[in-house]
Amino acid sequence: MRLILLGPPGAGKGTQAQRLQDAYGIVQLSTGDMLRAAVAAGSEVGLKAKAVMEAGDLVSDDIMVRIISDRIDQADCANGFILDGFPRTVAQAEALDVMLKEKGLKLDAVIEMEVDDGVLVDRISGRYTCGNCGAGYHDHNLKPKKDGVCDRCGGTEFVRRADDNAETVRSRLQVYHDQTAPLLPYYRARGVLQSVDGMAAIDDVTGAMKAILEASQGID
Ligand code: AMP
Repeated sequence: MRLILLGPPGAGKGTQAQRLQDAYGIVQLSTGDMLRAAVAAGSEVGLKAKAVMEAGDLVSDDIMVRIISDRIDQADCANGFILDGFPRTVAQAEALDVMLKEKGLKLDAVIEMEVDDGVLVDRISGRYTCGNCGAGYHDHNLKPKKDGVCDRCGGTEFVRRADDNAETVRSRLQVYHDQTAPLLPYYRARGVLQSVDGMAAIDDVTGAMKAILEASQGID
């Protein structure tokens, strides 16, 4: 099963991708996580990406397309993957179409998470992840069952993203509307876009996504 999750920063793409990963044994491919790992490792890509990410801008299409193309070829993607944060521009979507065709792969679904801008700054500024396994949490909406202990791995160290501050969030939302929202008509015109209410409870959003995936016939 292969799918794209679309939606603004803070829509809950990462949270839902983790749930779908656990439910279907497919891999979450978060380009944001990959870039953060590259920054932490000080690699060539990381050095190029750091300032761009801190400003809330987009890393170049060339770099992103290469990262995803290489990642999809790895053995753990054979069963399927969830694209979380890619594509983010129409040029990336076009490159993805070509890439999948060349690799003989088809998408099963493109799912948009619809969320009002008004809640996004609060959602993003409250979020944090387990420093060990990356499980996502939120100060108000999604706390670990035991305070200070990760539900998934028992880790006790948590981290917040450098770009999850109010000022950068506003730039990221603007970039989303200018550069990523045009993907909605791109996929809608091809009759493959499905939407879920990203304002609903987390479990309900997962349920709506599973219903879409289980009814999916694949996308040519
Ligand atoms: P995310 O974790 O998806 O919110 O991504 C964090 C940051 O990484 C974004 O604000 C961009 O600077 C960069 N980034 C992630 N994915 C992409 C992409 N597909 N194209 C360009 N930049 C990206």
